[in-house]
Amino acid sequence: MIIDGKKEAALLREEIKKEITSLKDKTNRVPGLTVILIGDFAPSQIYVRNKEKNSKEVGINSNVIKYSKDVSEEEVLKKIKELNKDKDVSGILVQLPLPDQISKEKIINSIDPSKDVDGFNPVNVGNLASGYNAIVPCTPLGCLLLLKKIEKNLSGKHAVIIGRSNLNGKPMAQLLLKENCTVVITHSKTKNLKEECSKADILIAAVGVANLVKKDWVKDGSIIIDVGINKQGDKIVGDVSFEEVKDKVKKPRDAKSVKISRNAIFSPKNLSTAYFSIF
Ligand code: NAP
Repeated sequence: MIIDGKKEAALLREEIKKEITSLKDKTNRVPGLTVILIGDFAPSQIYVRNKEKNSKEVGINSNVIKYSKDVSEEEVLKKIKELNKDKDVSGILVQLPLPDQISKEKIINSIDPSKDVDGFNPVNVGNLASGYNAIVPCTPLGCLLLLKKIEKNLSGKHAVIIGRSNLNGKPMAQLLLKENCTVVITHSKTKNLKEECSKADILIAAVGVANLVKKDWVKDGSIIIDVGINKQGDKIVGDVSFEEVKDKVKKPRDAKSVKISRNAIFSPKNLSTAYFSIF
């Protein structure tokens, strides 16, 4: 079984649109998202354009503030301070990566945690790790939403995550722990990676190495989520060798595979974003 992530994303957008319409009816207000885009890095331009498009589609007031790549750190921090106080701005997102003269850490720390759409502020990271309500980074949240479409109850599942980044691997582990999974986080120094992966009921690959996970790394009947986006010539491929695993999933009751890519969805419930769709 292969999940149609694009369909799930469209359904979620519909749901969010209804919530925003009802919020507007009750309060005459809608959520406002401000994105700060610095420089002309092509992928960032695309991500921000998609966020803007999806926000508009669901009824969020979306605003993009653009700076040239040589803007000072001070100027950006000043703008974030203003946005933190602005009652019409419910979410702030500073598109990464940032130019060298700007400290990512300072920027992330300066965003009001209640408006930190990306969930990177240490307050949100700490809340997630403590099992409290938190704004959760979008990609792992999208993965969890998709996982739950396949399996409502994840309790007791053996989950293996490849990758320990703050963006993907670590928050994914926290989310799965909260679902009562037994979680193993692997990384570049892990010994016997193949053996670890082959034990997984749930395998999340967030590595950035094209086609790392092969057919014989995957247990029958497991759920695989491939977060990787890797350029191979003109093609984009994942971290899981999709062609190999796809053959395996053709058999009934076999591995279920999902490809995640970038469609930003903004949830007014928790001011977080979820990205997912098949590519
Ligand atoms: P990252 O910060 O570079 O982290 C990669 C992780 O993979 C690190 O923990 C690294 O281990 C581990 N790793 C690298 N090579 C490995 C290997 N050969 N075996 C085992 N582990 C290995 O990357 P990221 O930001 O998490 O992104 C991961 C991938 O997801 C990229 O392809 C990125 O483009 C993609 N991505 C997709 C989405 C989406 O919406 N689908 C969103 C964000 C990112 P160490 O910690 O030991 O270095």
